[in-house]
Amino acid sequence: MTHRSIGILGGGISGVALASFLGDDVEVVERRPSIGGLCGTIVEDGFTFDAAGPHIMFSKNKEVLNLMVETLGDNVHQRRRENKIWFKGRFVKYPFENDLASLPPQDNFDCIYGYIVNPHAGDTPSNLSEWSYKTFGAGISEKYFIPYNEKIWNYPATKLGLEFVERIPKPPMEDVLKSSIGISTEGYLHQLHFYYPIEGGYESLVHAFAKNVRGDIRTNWRVASVARDGKQWRVTSAGGEERTYDTLVSTLPIHELLKVWADAPDDVHKLAATLHYNSLINVLIGCNEDRGYPYTALYVPDPNLLFHRLSFPKAFSEHCVPAGSSSIMAEITTNEGGDGVWEMSDEAIIDRTIRELEMTGLADPNTIVYRKAIRFLYGYPVYDLDYRANVTAMRNAVAATGLHLLGRFAQFDYINSDVCIERAIALSKELSSP
Ligand SMILES: Cc1cc2nc3c(=O)[nH]c(=O)nc-3n(C[C@H](O)[C@H](O)[C@H](O)COP(=O)(O)OP(=O)(O)OC[C@H]3O[C@@H](n4cnc5c(N)ncnc54)[C@H](O)[C@@H]3O)c2cc1C
Repeated sequence: MTHRSIGILGGGISGVALASFLGDDVEVVERRPSIGGLCGTIVEDGFTFDAAGPHIMFSKNKEVLNLMVETLGDNVHQRRRENKIWFKGRFVKYPFENDLASLPPQDNFDCIYGYIVNPHAGDTPSNLSEWSYKTFGAGISEKYFIPYNEKIWNYPATKLGLEFVERIPKPPMEDVLKSSIGISTEGYLHQLHFYYPIEGGYESLVHAFAKNVRGDIRTNWRVASVARDGKQWRVTSAGGEERTYDTLVSTLPIHELLKVWADAPDDVHKLAATLHYNSLINVLIGCNEDRGYPYTALYVPDPNLLFHRLSFPKAFSEHCVPAGSSSIMAEITTNEGGDGVWEMSDEAIIDRTIRELEMTGLADPNTIVYRKAIRFLYGYPVYDLDYRANVTAMRNAVAATGLHLLGRFAQFDYINSDVCIERAIALSKELSSP
């Protein structure tokens, strides 16, 4: 049986970045044939798609952002965000309240009236719906913010908590008033310019960190059991290999870890069962024509359309499509056993997506030369009203066993790759200190 000092379960950005900050007595084990996890990229027939959804590189933490950019070396460039909202057949700038003049006149009036004459302005909100009414008023809430959020979260806005509102752009009143009469403003400067790999999609970032790993990375190594063995951790693979580690870090989704962690405390099982997540089905479409859409992403609040967001990989890098071609990714939030969408066949999802793209006039089915549906069971952790208390208790109960959790679905936190790296740096310091 092989023994290593530190074992890291999962080869997404969290696991690989952590290994890159540690010494050589470290092993990363990943069940898939390639590292990448949610940062993974599919390259097929000349088309490159970030399979879980469009990924951009940005961070409030300038040190981490610099590290990401430097680690990619020459394979990185900067792009400008061109996000729009697809509203009643029109392209409206993102965020919505920064471009009210692009709405049909009655919608523009309803939005600006609700923003100014807002009976909820003085409320203390206790859920996302109330927060939206207080912040934006009835028009913007009912036409855009609530329908869009209920699509992406697949959950009633009245049952969503306030944890992620700090991520939502809130333009000053002056900007909203200007936007209604057609004076242009730029609403959300934080991600206006972002970095992206020139070639290989976002997964290149994980491979770039992997080059700095002095220990081992094993792929096709599915963790089948985890157990405490005295002071060590014993881990076995589905292929029958056995390891012992002094220190164990899991970046596996907590719900997956619990399937293989035989002696996990009951509390952890009970708490994890309260944590809700959304799954994703992404439809990847390649076309042999290029309409020259300059958009990075289109947000789609219309509840009659299945996808909540479309993105255009060519806007991230010209290398994402063959010359003269274009591509679109449609993201669909779903829940297993909940909404009937997860249960649809890939073909049915693809057909419906293509029909909806044709209906909206955004793609011509006759030009489609590549199509694929890809599923992610774990897409978004849902911040419901009990989330904070339950997730904190879950993390504490795991920490009491000595096992370290790191990453988006291990810690069950709506975080991006930059925060995964930031936390990997912090954990590497903790593990390296005597
Ligand atoms: C739609 C969407 C858009 C996003 N956009 C951005 C963005 O623009 N910018 C950004 O920075 N971030 C973005 N993110 C977030 C980013 O993808 C995640 O924060 C990051 O990839 C999480 O990495 P991780 O290593 O923590 O987890 P994961 O990537 O989930 O890694 C866990 C790994 O564990 C492996 N695994 C699971 N079970 C086993 C097992 N039994 N044995 C061995 N291995 C196993 C999995 O295969 C996986 O590789 C986005 C995410 C989504 C879903």
